[in-house]
Amino acid sequence: MTTPKPKSHSTPHRQSQGGKDFRNRVKHNKQTASTPTAQSTPRIGSPSAKPGIVLKDGREKSLQRRHPWIFSGAIECIDGAPPSGTTVPVCDAAGSFLAWAAYNTDSQITARVWSWREEDVVDKAFFRSRIADALAARRTLGLSRDSDGMRIIHGESDGLPGLIVDKYGDVIVMQLGSAGPEHWRDTLADILQELCAPVCIYERSDSDGREREGLSARNGIVRGMLPEHVEVTEHGLRFAVDVATGQKTGYYLDQRDNRALTGTLAQDKDVLNCFCYTGGFSLYALRGGAKSVLSIDSSQEALQLAQANVKLNGLDASRAEWQCADVFEALRKLRDQNRKFDLIVLDPPKFAPTAAFAEKAARAYKDINLLGFKLLRPGGLLFTYSCSGGINDDLFQKIIAGAALDAGVDAQIVKWLHAAPDHPVLLSFPEGAYLKGLVLKVA
Ligand code: SAH
Repeated sequence: MTTPKPKSHSTPHRQSQGGKDFRNRVKHNKQTASTPTAQSTPRIGSPSAKPGIVLKDGREKSLQRRHPWIFSGAIECIDGAPPSGTTVPVCDAAGSFLAWAAYNTDSQITARVWSWREEDVVDKAFFRSRIADALAARRTLGLSRDSDGMRIIHGESDGLPGLIVDKYGDVIVMQLGSAGPEHWRDTLADILQELCAPVCIYERSDSDGREREGLSARNGIVRGMLPEHVEVTEHGLRFAVDVATGQKTGYYLDQRDNRALTGTLAQDKDVLNCFCYTGGFSLYALRGGAKSVLSIDSSQEALQLAQANVKLNGLDASRAEWQCADVFEALRKLRDQNRKFDLIVLDPPKFAPTAAFAEKAARAYKDINLLGFKLLRPGGLLFTYSCSGGINDDLFQKIIAGAALDAGVDAQIVKWLHAAPDHPVLLSFPEGAYLKGLVLKVA
């Protein structure tokens, strides 16, 4: 069986958004008005007209439902040759205003909506208000009670498509994933500095998605100085965060509350934590009184940081075992050695960034879950996750059901899990709900 794996084991990126496969990028700005219009290639309109996007007749429906992406195939023509990243009005075929959107010549998501209100002006004040709203929402929900690390901007779901901002103590990391935020980079950094007063704003615009948007990778300090040691304290546990070279923006904030849940169920258990990264679930299990915790990851750097994190919290390292290995192989070895566990966590990287990868990814999810079920003692708990935008809750449940069946175990769903509430999901943007998890109890 072939198992899809990230390009590099040391720096895979578990991205926060799914979406369509837009690898077959079109460069429609090279076309002329006389070029026949391909299904997915918008026609260039009059270059002297005011910049704007006109949709094909009937293709306004998704915008009317407030989905913020405009795919190239929905576009009738683009007027005025707007440069990438600039804000353009989007109109239906009859010329009625629909939205203001950031244009991108190099993506199949040709534009992403900033605002649905014609009277809005997309400028610094607009972004300040959006960012202030996102911060206020998190304050209102009391989200800093449990942690000084937080996702303060969650892209589309916070009305700021393509922009991810994570906070680790007084360090902010921003990730610009599309042409709109790229265009407003300095403005966004100024506003974050004004509103959050961090000691550093660091940019980790080096996710795989940038390439699909025609943007090159960028990684470095934007404002202030990066402290030598950055850490986050969540639910009373301290984690060192490698902002410059760690995965994603350095840490997986989305699993915060799920990690805490694992900790509460670990007492006296033999725990196996697969894809452990910097030890998140392992540390909670150790603090929760686990008898033993075996943690596996393919990244040596992540494992080093995980062990440093155990020390940082004064936890009993003698109950922890670390393995640098490919989980697919390691699980088979554990099965052959007849090792058994009471609680297993499977939190793999994104196997299916888009629905196009779902079938191949489903085989990989089934494989690790089948082995996970086999390694559990009767009555054991499996915490299993998928952060693939291309696999929805329904499909995930079906894959896990197939794995249990093939493993010959009966299991119950005890709980569904999703990302922590600082990763909200806009109702009109279901792609925002990328992380799903199940707690299963085997009979
Ligand atoms: N559970 C972690 C986050 C996991 S991210 C937390 O709470 O912080 C996914 C991890 O899988 C990464 O650390 C990556 O290095 C690791 N990884 C990716 N492919 C792997 C493979 N085939 N075998 C082992 N680890 C892998």
